[in-house]
Amino acid sequence: MRRCPQRVLRARPRLKKTSLAALLATDIVQEIEALLGRQAVDALDMEALEMSVRQQALQLAARAVEQRLNADTSDNAGPSLPCSCGGEARYAGRRSKHFHSALGSLHLQRAYYHCPSCGGGFCPRDRSLGLENSSLSPAVTRMVGTVGALVSFQEGSTLLQELAGVAVDAKQVERTAEDLGAEIADDERQDTQPAHDHLPLPATLYLGIDGTGIPLRAEELQGRAGKQPDGSAKTREVKLCTVWSAESRDEHGTPVRDEGSVTYSAAIESAATPDTASQRSEFSERVGREATRRRFTPVERPVVWGDGAPWIWNLAPELFPQARQIVDRFPAKEHLSHLAQTL
Ligand SMILES: [Zn+2]
Repeated sequence: MRRCPQRVLRARPRLKKTSLAALLATDIVQEIEALLGRQAVDALDMEALEMSVRQQALQLAARAVEQRLNADTSDNAGPSLPCSCGGEARYAGRRSKHFHSALGSLHLQRAYYHCPSCGGGFCPRDRSLGLENSSLSPAVTRMVGTVGALVSFQEGSTLLQELAGVAVDAKQVERTAEDLGAEIADDERQDTQPAHDHLPLPATLYLGIDGTGIPLRAEELQGRAGKQPDGSAKTREVKLCTVWSAESRDEHGTPVRDEGSVTYSAAIESAATPDTASQRSEFSERVGREATRRRFTPVERPVVWGDGAPWIWNLAPELFPQARQIVDRFPAKEHLSHLAQTL
């Protein structure tokens, strides 16, 4: 991810309780008093009060963070710094920029270095704070990633404003979500280190493979053959691979998926390998990476689970010749009854 998750999530040192904190607290209490006035508490518009106080408290906190960061000029690391182009970037004073943060808008001044060789420039502090090449703070970037994965970019922008009071327009949600998606995809391809390799493996691990059509906009389907009467397509198939264990039992003794054991990897990718190709299909490579991360093959009983789609059963034995194969009984039944009707 652009903003390295470890860096974002690591424990931060606690802020010392300073006179600044005391001032902030006093300011907030005064704001509340000003909003409440002399009216009776029972006559309050509680929603208006909570939203307004939150806004005021965040604004005060934003000003405090801004002052604290801008007072620190230690990001001036001398007259020159090496540039990524190989040239030498020269210190060119402090530059200010607005950032969207979870506290609202932050106006930050940072040391700026300009490189005469490539004509570019950079602020070392942006890099260290996770603000590089973006006007969104790490917390807002994470929020955008969350809404961008769940709803449309426009709805995401509205939700961010309503729930978090953060103003990020739909275009910015789109750009950020797509950048994050590209980084996550890159990370998925690069990192095949087995996760939790200190934990004991379950006796049985299941690897499910499935595909489903998702509707897409016309411009994303141009030139693609599909099942419409005119030969065009309305959807593209997302292929999904999921790994889980089911050592737990419910109250009837039926195996259930172990909590926290489920991982997914999905993409709009082809599972078809041309006969002449020496390498596996894109999706087959993805399944292989997920299996490596989950230590699927070293388990005592690896099980591949899927419906009757032929592409699944072309791919599974090639990747996991030792695995048991289970055809999901619902789609299998459906297929059999369809076959019976045809016969
Ligand atoms: Zn340069």
